[in-house]
Amino acid sequence: MTDIFTKEKRSWVMSRIKSESHLESKFASLLRKSKISFERHPKILGRPDFRIRDKKTVIFIDGCFWHMCPKHYVEPKSKRYFWERKIKENTTRDRKVNKKLRIEGYKVIRIWEHDIKKDPENVLRKIIKYIR
Ligand SMILES: [Zn+2]
Repeated sequence: MTDIFTKEKRSWVMSRIKSESHLESKFASLLRKSKISFERHPKILGRPDFRIRDKKTVIFIDGCFWHMCPKHYVEPKSKRYFWERKIKENTTRDRKVNKKLRIEGYKVIRIWEHDIKKDPENVLRKIIKYIR
C-alpha cells in the first residue's frame, strides 16, 4: 500500500495519534486510582477507549481533530477534500455508534481531548457522578 501522506503530513498525523493515546494512558491511571474497574478497548461496537462493565458504561476520548471539536478543529491546509470526507465519516460513525450502544443499554460518555488535557480530575468527577 502506498502512503497517502507526505512525510511531513505523516509525522503530523502520528503526533496527533500519539498525543491521544498518551492522554488515554494518563486517564486510565486516574481511573485505576479511583478504584473503578474498567477494561481498555473492549471488543464491542465502536471500540470504546474504556468500558466500566458493572455500570454498563462506555467511555470514548474524542480527539479534537478527528472528531471535529467545535472549539479546536482547524481545517487542514492540504488535501482538504480528503480530510473533510474522512472527518465527516468519523462524526457520522460516532453518532451511529452512540445510538446503537444506547439501544444495547449502555451509558455512552464522550470526552473531548481538550477537557482531559485541561482538567482530568474534573472529568473523572463528572463521570463518577454520572455513573453512580
Ligand atoms: Zn477541542
